[in-house]
Amino acid sequence: MLNESVVALGKKRSTIRELFEFGNQRAAVVGRENILDFSLGNPNVPAPEAVKQAILDTLDTEDPAVTHGYTSAQGADFVRETIAQDLNRRFGTQYGGRNLYMTVGAAAALSICFKALTASSDDEFLVLAPYFPEYLVFIGEGAGAKPVIVPARNEDFQIDFDALDQRINEHTKAVVVNSPNNPSGAVYSEDTVRRLAELLTQRSQQYGHPIYLISDEPYRELVYDADTVVPFLPKYYDNTLVCYSYSKSLSLPGERIGYVLVPDSVQDFADMYAAVCGAGRVLGYVNAPSLFQRVAAKCTGLTSDLSVYKKNRDLLYEALTSYGYQCVKPRGAFYIFPQTLGIDDYKFCEMAKKYDLLVVPGTDFGAPGHMRISYCVKTETVERALPIFEKLAKEVLG
Ligand code: PLP
Repeated sequence: MLNESVVALGKKRSTIRELFEFGNQRAAVVGRENILDFSLGNPNVPAPEAVKQAILDTLDTEDPAVTHGYTSAQGADFVRETIAQDLNRRFGTQYGGRNLYMTVGAAAALSICFKALTASSDDEFLVLAPYFPEYLVFIGEGAGAKPVIVPARNEDFQIDFDALDQRINEHTKAVVVNSPNNPSGAVYSEDTVRRLAELLTQRSQQYGHPIYLISDEPYRELVYDADTVVPFLPKYYDNTLVCYSYSKSLSLPGERIGYVLVPDSVQDFADMYAAVCGAGRVLGYVNAPSLFQRVAAKCTGLTSDLSVYKKNRDLLYEALTSYGYQCVKPRGAFYIFPQTLGIDDYKFCEMAKKYDLLVVPGTDFGAPGHMRISYCVKTETVERALPIFEKLAKEVLG
């Protein structure tokens, strides 16, 4: 007898996976260059040159037994200390290596936090739509807790505070936030963050235990306008755990490197940090990839070239709105999340597939009636897709 829920997960392809397979089949017929694939969040901009240099320097100067050996479970001391100093420089904080736990990307950081906080199968984690679909798997099948979805505020993808407030109860363990957001590209304003912190403080007092904030931040540095500031959540709310990843900021998604930040301000800091270490142990991570811990430390403060993403965002936003798509202008990440012109999102995405244009239905992110367009692609791909988006708009709107 197997674990039925994981058998089902293993058998069920996500819509994104289905689209990926569809793209491969069509590429064999019409050529890869003719597939307009906006389905994946795989950065197309190469990692900065400094990453290659850091890899070579590490391999040239370090004892291979160290570089490729196990590190401390929480990550090499100098790596955590260097990353803490970089955070201090950027956010005026006073972290040290004691606050960091290196992970196998943000996915592991999140799984560790959900596991660390779950004390009972009644525990609930609030997930704000539109959301990264894997949260539901990490919380449900991974930690054995309950994901509770808070509907989206479609007009600007900030937080619907009434809807959030209604869903908080004595079982609420944490609220998961992701800004800049996948799939909407929204960045929470300082006002949103302050209101969130006030609400969680008040409700934590009401129930006599902390309601944590889990801030999922793989897109922290990916913002495109001088006036867009991404508030640093631990400054607004003490019981915040940050899940960070270098997958997108340094274009290294396959190398699997990130961290959990446990600020000193978290209630019972020592126990919380121990719970993070314990959860990493239970989940069998052992330690984050050793070579890429070192690379991350050597590349603090760097990001990939964001200019292509900004250009793609501007092109898509201007063109789609001019064709009649309702759309909130993305401020960050590399996704845009327009409405599907009033028709069912699956139907719209099927119509797009007929032109070998691959976009993901919003229902998969908890926001029906939308589509996610990942614009981490060549600008030429965007330019070739625009006439098809226009044609689809004419087909639907008449
Ligand atoms: N969280 C969000 C919102 C994401 O979009 C992703 C990846 O696309 C992840 C977490 C997982 O990131 P990682 O590749 O670092 O595990």
